[in-house]
Amino acid sequence: MPTRSEALEALLSEIRSEFPRFRIVPKRGDRLSRVIDLALRVLTLGQMREYMTHYHTVVFDTLYVPDGWERTSPERMMVVLRHERVHLRQRRRYGTLWMAFLYAVPILPLGLALGRARIEWEAYAETIRATADLLGEEEARSASLRAHVVRQFTSASYGWMWPFPSTVNRWYDDVLETFRGEDRSGTGEPQQGKA
Ligand SMILES: [Zn+2]
Repeated sequence: MPTRSEALEALLSEIRSEFPRFRIVPKRGDRLSRVIDLALRVLTLGQMREYMTHYHTVVFDTLYVPDGWERTSPERMMVVLRHERVHLRQRRRYGTLWMAFLYAVPILPLGLALGRARIEWEAYAETIRATADLLGEEEARSASLRAHVVRQFTSASYGWMWPFPSTVNRWYDDVLETFRGEDRSGTGEPQQGKA
């Protein structure tokens, strides 16, 4: 069994071999991040205040990380990296311009942003799976993770991209449903049957 930090290094080198220009930059002290932070505050009328302190953001091949990244546990870092790897792959799939358009424009920039919601649904499904793999299925099924994820869709965090908690909760159930009998470990090891 690799140690926690070996597992983190292995994931990082996997990502770098898939995306050679991948790098991690702290948001604090980064000019682009300050501009985005300000724009989000304006667009959400001051409600999105945690861009610099709580959110991880991929722009091109760079992952911008909030305060405290270096103090994050390897498991939580890996959960974030797996979410962000989905976005890196989406950009490769859609192309930079189309990805930016999907993310930023339809249907409206704020509220009911279907393009952004679809992109994040795919990435948060990976967050839930990675949480189950790295922190345990109980954590993935916990009310606190569910509440956190649902809030990302329904609150100002992503500009109220899908403000219907019931739809988001149903999607969350569907993701959990895929756990049944599925090998999520990615290591080829069979999953221990858990009740
Ligand atoms: Zn995301």
